[in-house]
Amino acid sequence: MNSKEDTRILLIYTGGTIGMVQDAQSGELRPFAFSKLNDHMPELHQLPLKLDAITTQQPIDSSNMNFSHWVELVNLIKAQYHAYNGFVILHGSDTMSYTASALSFMLVNLNKAVILTGSQLPLGVVRTDGKENLLTAIELAAAKRPDGSAKISEVCVYFEYKLYRGNRCIKYNAEHFEAFKSPNYPLLAEAGVHITYNDQYILAPASDAVFKVNTTLSNALYVLPLFPGMNLNNCVPLSALKSVKALILHTFGAGNGPTSDWFTTYLKSVIDSGILIVNVSQCKAGAVIQGMYQTSMQFKALGVISAGDMTLEASITKLMVLLGQSQDPKWITHCFETNICGERTTTYEYKPV
Ligand code: ASP
Repeated sequence: MNSKEDTRILLIYTGGTIGMVQDAQSGELRPFAFSKLNDHMPELHQLPLKLDAITTQQPIDSSNMNFSHWVELVNLIKAQYHAYNGFVILHGSDTMSYTASALSFMLVNLNKAVILTGSQLPLGVVRTDGKENLLTAIELAAAKRPDGSAKISEVCVYFEYKLYRGNRCIKYNAEHFEAFKSPNYPLLAEAGVHITYNDQYILAPASDAVFKVNTTLSNALYVLPLFPGMNLNNCVPLSALKSVKALILHTFGAGNGPTSDWFTTYLKSVIDSGILIVNVSQCKAGAVIQGMYQTSMQFKALGVISAGDMTLEASITKLMVLLGQSQDPKWITHCFETNICGERTTTYEYKPV
């Protein structure tokens, strides 16, 4: 007979709405001591597994998430990697897709599930969505293949009955329980009466390669959103880009932007000063295809790198990890254009029909 000890899950609490209770008198939301989790969720005892819970050094609203938190999470997982079958991270929803994307690039050759979840209403509120999110996230992290290995071996986000690939999802709704979407990649699983797995979309387990972590990150990047009516005054001056290694252009549609001379001259001066330029679309679905319109030909001619169908979150965090590993623009460009862990479909190339 299986014992509870056969499956061990580590729950890591980083903060966010899920870990709050509503004060009975004042109604205000405040964090509860996470050691009291079982008081709020006695159901956890009924799970057929051994669950250990820990809290990161300082639980935070996820708007305060930064490199030190990501490194802390990655080091915690590294230290406990062989002791647990899977990991669940409780995290505020606001920046959950950034953390999920960052972890997907920081945890290399992952062979276990790392599932981030949270909630729109705190656990201590009667109508909370947190209980279902947490219970099912644990079940997903504990799921096994027939050979006993983890069913899911990638970083995911679970929210409101849906399991998303972490580096493909975005937070798009601050009001609804269904807070996330994955416009460019199908769901990995859906929970109803039963959990339906979309096996063909789940990453295959990493080969025999050894699990390792990347913990050197760089924020030497700048994001420039394009908008109609902009001029040179809206572009960050070259003198302010001294420590920057990559400039993300947040472009229109399939990766388009102004063709005005002032803009092309500006971009050329950025490239000439050794800064990589990356093209990420403001559209949530579809991909950057440089050369499809005349209004992206100038980018292609300048050697701007296409983010394809990557989210802005995945593009930013992937650059942070790559810039942390190397100063070599050729290597960074190659890796950025390569699908590392399911974050991009292909390198999109426009082929006229
Ligand atoms: N502001 C909160 C956070 O991201 C919202 C949430 O927890 O969902 O930490």
